[in-house]
Amino acid sequence: MLSSPIEEIKNRLDIVEVIGGYMKLAKAGANFRAPCPFHSEKKPSFFVSPARQIWHCFGCSKGGDIFGFVKEIEGVEFGDALRLLAQKAGVELKKQSPEYDQWKSERERLYEVCELACKFFEKQLEEGTTGKEAKNYLLGRGITEESIKKWRLGYSPDVWQGLSDFLTSRGYTKDEIQKAGLALTSERGSFYDRFRGRIIFPIFDLNSQVVGFGGRVFKSDDPAKYVNSPSTLLYDKSRILYGLDKAKVEIRKKNCCILVEGYVDLIMVSQSGSENAVATSGTALTSYQLQILKRYSENLHTAFDMDLAGDSATKRGIDLAQSQGFNVKVITMPGEKDPADVILHNPQDWEKSLGGTKSILEFYFETTFTKISSGTPEGKREISKILLPVIKRIPSKIEQSHWVQELAKKLHVREEIVEDEMKKVKTIYSPEGAFVAENIIGHGPMAIKTRRELLGEKIASMVLKNPQNLSLVDEDCLAFVPENIRTVLADLRQQKSPQDANFANYLFLKAEAEEEEGIDCEAEIKSCLREIKNLEVRGRLDAISKDLKIAEEESDPGKVSDLVRKFKEISGKLINI
Ligand SMILES: [Zn+2]
Repeated sequence: MLSSPIEEIKNRLDIVEVIGGYMKLAKAGANFRAPCPFHSEKKPSFFVSPARQIWHCFGCSKGGDIFGFVKEIEGVEFGDALRLLAQKAGVELKKQSPEYDQWKSERERLYEVCELACKFFEKQLEEGTTGKEAKNYLLGRGITEESIKKWRLGYSPDVWQGLSDFLTSRGYTKDEIQKAGLALTSERGSFYDRFRGRIIFPIFDLNSQVVGFGGRVFKSDDPAKYVNSPSTLLYDKSRILYGLDKAKVEIRKKNCCILVEGYVDLIMVSQSGSENAVATSGTALTSYQLQILKRYSENLHTAFDMDLAGDSATKRGIDLAQSQGFNVKVITMPGEKDPADVILHNPQDWEKSLGGTKSILEFYFETTFTKISSGTPEGKREISKILLPVIKRIPSKIEQSHWVQELAKKLHVREEIVEDEMKKVKTIYSPEGAFVAENIIGHGPMAIKTRRELLGEKIASMVLKNPQNLSLVDEDCLAFVPENIRTVLADLRQQKSPQDANFANYLFLKAEAEEEEGIDCEAEIKSCLREIKNLEVRGRLDAISKDLKIAEEESDPGKVSDLVRKFKEISGKLINI
């Protein structure tokens, strides 16, 4: 019998590799663990089991197989997750099957439109007359042929309907082209291309699929130097970092991410050998982007030109990274040039800059004290206005007090004064990343289990993992555990493997995760059993109390004394824990 594509994909892919492609996993016994990407936490409760090919977070209760993970992390439907993983596994999905058509969602049509548009732009850069000029411009900026291919750079001809005519001739509707962000309809109803006469930088998602485009002029003085795709079903600029798909493996390997500002900077930096780099494309870093970056590394090296006194988007992004506990360092370049220029003209200067990074605080201190004189009262005030918010954002109190001392020393004032002033500073970002947890990760409410369910799961998982513990669970106990747990335990007593394999897999992983915490299984089972019995007893006592109240209201002395006796009798069954 032919196996289904789903089974085929599961056979070919390893869950540790798939999940490891998105985040850093650390070995933990037979499993791997990491801080959960779906909720905010400090202690890692996200586990991946290579033996069972499942994942589970014991903090937010999300879990499943590779498909579930991809759905969750990419925020896509099952069909898209299937398509993504099929591609990764090299499994071909039959185009004609009704299942496939069902999966072929609107998103997928848009992916096709973007991919086709990307090919169209690439071809124009190679073959069109102005396209060739654009290519020469790129080569002149130092971008190699190889990089042009790697980053799939292109050119959009300076006509109103070049791309859209091409896409409609390939069977895509105007509506789809517009939804992909590639065309617009004017107020008078005419339909035209968004990108005209521009060098095109395709924007990729984490799986290197084209989801949007950035276009920039190269010869005219068009005031709109940059034009970017609007938000679409596929592209959300607050979530995508340019180049992360190509850099993620290197970022993890080097445990450091270089952050630059523009497309050309990034391509040049990557071309020069630092492949662990991504670009923000001129917008402020968002919490969501930082959350994604954190899966790969907490070390950020920025190569931005920063105006310290200003409130630029760039500075806000860096401030946010700092407040979220990133270890931010600054790559300072000679002559305040951008990385692309430095690499083109003095590649050795770039190398030198990479080796001599400064911590963000050192950078702030040096630049501020260089620019502003600390000799006057006004100067002192100006300096503290810039530096106090930066110091206040440091999540570590020890590190914070170091910089408070430093500032007091340099301003020739007492530390207490600096501390008092710092208290008055308002920061919009809370440390600890609470902001991220509440506002950014919109994954809905966490699944909440009752105490009884949790205790039942704990008992079953520990028995499953260490069958000798089955003897601890007597017939009596079975009556107290929830139905699904009772079924598992009953199967085990008859020496059968549990019928619900998914549930059993989850219980196994739970036991392993708890072993990892160094829990004594036998003692734990006993304590869980006592607690679950007490829960049952308390439930019965609650019910009697309610009946008692009614009997009292009804003035039924016989019933009252009967219930009181019952209550006493049952209370005697409560076990002291
Ligand atoms: Zn979680």
